[in-house]
Amino acid sequence: MIGVCYPDKYAVEETFQLLKVPWEWYAGGHQYDVVIARKADVDGYTDNLIDLEGNDCFKKISMLLNTGEPHLHEPVCEMLLDKLRQDLKKYTLLVEIPPVPFGHPYLVALTHDVDVTSVRECRILTAGYAAYQCFRQGNFRAGLRLACARLGIGSDPWVLFLRWKTLESELGVRSTFFFVPKKDDPGVRAHQYRPVRYDIDRDTLNRLTRDGWEVGVHGLDNWADAEAGKRERDTVGNEAAGNRTHWLLFDEKSWSLLEQAGYSYDTTFGYNDDAGFRAGTLQAYRPDGTDNLLELPLHIQDIGLFGKSCWAPAAGGWEKMPCLHLSESGAAGRCNRILDFAGRYGGAVTFLWHYENITPPKDWSGLYKDLVNRAKTDGAWVTTAGNVVAWFRMRRQARISCTHGDGMITISTENIPTGGSLPPLTLRIHVPDNRQVTANTGYLRQKEYIDILLTKKTITVSFP
Ligand SMILES: [Zn+2]
Repeated sequence: MIGVCYPDKYAVEETFQLLKVPWEWYAGGHQYDVVIARKADVDGYTDNLIDLEGNDCFKKISMLLNTGEPHLHEPVCEMLLDKLRQDLKKYTLLVEIPPVPFGHPYLVALTHDVDVTSVRECRILTAGYAAYQCFRQGNFRAGLRLACARLGIGSDPWVLFLRWKTLESELGVRSTFFFVPKKDDPGVRAHQYRPVRYDIDRDTLNRLTRDGWEVGVHGLDNWADAEAGKRERDTVGNEAAGNRTHWLLFDEKSWSLLEQAGYSYDTTFGYNDDAGFRAGTLQAYRPDGTDNLLELPLHIQDIGLFGKSCWAPAAGGWEKMPCLHLSESGAAGRCNRILDFAGRYGGAVTFLWHYENITPPKDWSGLYKDLVNRAKTDGAWVTTAGNVVAWFRMRRQARISCTHGDGMITISTENIPTGGSLPPLTLRIHVPDNRQVTANTGYLRQKEYIDILLTKKTITVSFP
């Protein structure tokens, strides 16, 4: 057994929800395979110890999850967890529920923020600028079509729900659309450019959910006010469990306010001006101070990759921050590196492609399709944000305990759902590759571990 002695309860519990190996709080006089603690806190304990002094992974992980860091290009939490995993393997036969569904290397959550639903609703200036950009790109047809549509002539090139559904159906995936609950309202502490100009169209939302897409709230004030958060959820509809705040506005109280307002998850924690790992992780996690709400961190958004600049709150107002402004191949390189990390560590990559950006002047649909195709070729489970969060919630609720015998290990499981629409969990046993293994269930042999489909109550593995 792994014993842990550390003063910050949240930091330990959340670290072990991400690592998902059996452990218990250290009690003096008990026998442990290994103890994780600061040496001074377990003075009497001299046996197998992972000393946190000078290398406090609990503190680092908790800080990253709850405070985040700008411009982080590596999943530092996953790296710290893997270091801990490798250290633990020196002392004990490690059994874990890794952050991957059985037979999949990682997950992908596809999302779209809906900031506009047609050219006709746009201000003349917005539509005019979009048309001008098309002309500058030499795409006169698209520019003319935009200008005419704004004047009420011809079809509207920014009415795109059907196009998204066709595109994603052809890729064999579904996604989440986040809708702003109120038009012409910038929201609290907001920039004058923040209002949207559409009303929620109930039929559009119903058609999306009927066909397997998910609908969520693209929050205006819910990040700063729980009562407003409830109203915004009611407006978008009861099926809206998740939030991504418009312009990614957020502060340290937002998670708890969103939980009070009844949201089950948030997916705001990411970058407007970069692509990477603001929370240092590829996993959905519980922020400190919440009981049930999970954060699904955002990793890749189209504006961060391709945009020139974005607005960010600053002392006394707003400032323009440069985005990456990459070419398509530059953006592909960044995104593929993030998917490579997911391939190595598991977890979920969250994409945000804005609703209007699959058509001129910002037609970034090519990279979107390429990334989805790559993830599917890798064998990833590519789905809605809500499905990814539900899968992580199922993993968090699962419990395993182990009894070691002579050349044998018995794993008892609790809270493992059977049936249901989510892909099943994996049980991973780190058996060295030179050992012969027999088990009372099928398994996949990898170099340093075996993976077992986690559906049974009791699993026995022998390695004589
Ligand atoms: Zn938005």
